[in-house]
Amino acid sequence: MARYTESVCRLCRREGAKLFLKGTRCYTKKCAFERRPSPPGQHGVRRRKVGEYGLQLREKQKVRRTYGVLERQFRNYFVDAENRPGVTGESLLRSLELRLDNVVYRMGIASSRAQARQFVGHGHFSVNGRPTNVSSFQLKQGDRVEVRESHRGREPFKIAKETLRSHQTPEWLTVDATSLSGAIVAPPTRDQMPLDLNEQLVVEYYSR
Ligand code: SF4
Repeated sequence: MARYTESVCRLCRREGAKLFLKGTRCYTKKCAFERRPSPPGQHGVRRRKVGEYGLQLREKQKVRRTYGVLERQFRNYFVDAENRPGVTGESLLRSLELRLDNVVYRMGIASSRAQARQFVGHGHFSVNGRPTNVSSFQLKQGDRVEVRESHRGREPFKIAKETLRSHQTPEWLTVDATSLSGAIVAPPTRDQMPLDLNEQLVVEYYSR
């Protein structure tokens, strides 16, 4: 599986926004964006005029990078969203939110989507009682996600049990801290997805 292996803090600086890709570090003074908010590279601090296309492209990259999805897969999500009834941009975000790695992150078991993807990839989770290591697994209403019983005693999950007590779970999810499990109450609506993203610009980008 291809994945991005460079410094992720560069991505935040490139997009001019905190994308929260590094877990707890993002909330500390060590955050690279807090220290140097200019775009990376020698000419990063130059002031540039950004046109309509530039804005659309940057927003598309921002959404894609927030969820850690590569270009081709992201386009597939868009095509799929376009073919569904309803608002395309919202549909796109909903599909991304319902990825297994994102749900594990939203449940508060992982501190970032990258960590959630690693947990899933290492086979620590099951969906509806069946083990899976596919981080892009698309969940739906009623699906139950849990840390496999034999894996619950492992160090990261002992830590997760503690942090879960103060974690704010989105309304569309339920979480049980004791069994490290959760369920999808209903697919999230746009106002239940707390994202500082303009999905309409993404739709415009792909509709050129
Ligand atoms: Fe982005 Fe987090 Fe790095 Fe800050 S610490 S630049 S929010 S990934």
